[in-house]
Amino acid sequence: MIKFLNRRLKLGILTQNIEFDAEIKKIEKEIKDKVTKKFAGSLAIRMVDSGSCNACETECNALSNPYYNLERLGIYFVASPRHADVMLISGIMTFNMTPHVKEAYEQIPAPKWIITLGDCPAMESVFEKTYAIQAPISDHLKVTHHIQGCPPSPQTIIQGLLDFLRKI
Ligand code: SF4
Repeated sequence: MIKFLNRRLKLGILTQNIEFDAEIKKIEKEIKDKVTKKFAGSLAIRMVDSGSCNACETECNALSNPYYNLERLGIYFVASPRHADVMLISGIMTFNMTPHVKEAYEQIPAPKWIITLGDCPAMESVFEKTYAIQAPISDHLKVTHHIQGCPPSPQTIIQGLLDFLRKI
């Protein structure tokens, strides 16, 4: 135990500190200001997977870790579309998921917006168009903003959220 503690003291803190990332700090300040101004300090996102490979969701999960910690900017992922302002859709729109995505969207109270995440919803990813695929999502629902990437990194997603907030 003593040996372990000595080693920890010698190595110091190894985790990166976001406070030293000047670029992301600048983006985050603007996000916080815009969320406060346009959403009274709280923007709720309902994430819907319309047929993804799960890499986009994994990158999104990182937004809730102690490094990116999106909640401190007032952006929350919620479980119910009834509590959401924005629907964040990832994955290629599949035949099976199309009615469920539409149903979830209908349950979001107005005003509401759709952000698409990754190349799949725009039919720009590696998948071919088949009978089982009904992408792009814009054929079915009005998309306000698209975040590109396969998958987009957490920083790209944060920048995408800022671009959305600037747009509306
Ligand atoms: S955009 Fe790429 S990473 Fe995201 S769900 Fe599609 S294939 Fe997977």
